[in-house]
Amino acid sequence: DKLKDGLMKTRKSITEKIDQVLVSFGKVDEELFDELEEILITSDLGIDTTMRVIEDIKSKVRERKIIDAMKVKDLLKEELQEILSKGGNEFKLDTKPAVIIVIGVNGVGKTTSIGKIANLYKQQGKKVLLAAGDTFRAAAIDQLEIWAERVGVDVIAQKEGSDPAAVIYDAVQAAKSRKADLLICDTAGRLHTKKNLMEELKKVSRVLDRELPGADRETLLVLDATTGQNAISQAKTFSETADITGIVLTKLDGTAKGGIVVAIKSELDIPVKLIGVGEQLDDLQRFDATEFVEALFS
Ligand code: GDP
Repeated sequence: DKLKDGLMKTRKSITEKIDQVLVSFGKVDEELFDELEEILITSDLGIDTTMRVIEDIKSKVRERKIIDAMKVKDLLKEELQEILSKGGNEFKLDTKPAVIIVIGVNGVGKTTSIGKIANLYKQQGKKVLLAAGDTFRAAAIDQLEIWAERVGVDVIAQKEGSDPAAVIYDAVQAAKSRKADLLICDTAGRLHTKKNLMEELKKVSRVLDRELPGADRETLLVLDATTGQNAISQAKTFSETADITGIVLTKLDGTAKGGIVVAIKSELDIPVKLIGVGEQLDDLQRFDATEFVEALFS
């Protein structure tokens, strides 16, 4: 399936290496844990997370008096599943309209993800409208329009350089009058001007508070899995500027660093809600901890 294929590179880097180590050791000993530790760290689980996982596995091995090294794999699966399933990954988008604000730096796959999310909800019979709130680059507006056409939804846009809050205001009015179920708002992706970005996001947020009081709202941060630990630091910076309700982790298919999902969850405590596993419209999936771990170790 798609998820399994998408995780191919990560599987090769984590699972196959772990299997090799477990087989070659046969029995549990201290050196085995050192090897596991190294594999997990190079798979971008992060040092803190890796240490915690290894310590937990060690104590379970002691408690359960495990000798067979192959059994350690089940403990690892257990451990990862426990971390990944903490907190919900549900969307609360019941009001009409409901709003998704999408944030993230340029190049991470923000526009593509907006197209994919629009497609997901359109297929559920929802009326979706897009707002081209990244007005800094003309290309961003064009790209969003291309995706919208592909999916078959409308975009509310103004010209390059216009006030993002004004675009969002227009889009809200359109969403109301066209009775849209879901308004997806793109936002600027410049992190180097953090102060501007923060002000822009605040202004957009104020427009939504005022024009759609009580509407369900999700703020999704798009992160590129191939950037590994960089993605973590982006998430930290963005969480200072916005109340992120979930993460869209893109390009999992293009990386062996799929372990970043675990690091994000344990280090940031923001749920990964969607994962990108390819460039096509339907290459976006709801994140499910059990499915993910099963796909990783299958
Ligand atoms: P933006 O600048 O953040 O809006 O990025 P784009 O949406 O334009 O995407 C940048 C590149 O990443 C494009 O070539 C996309 O096709 C690619 N991309 C986005 N999501 C995924 C994904 O899940 N898997 C793969 N392989 N490529 C992706």
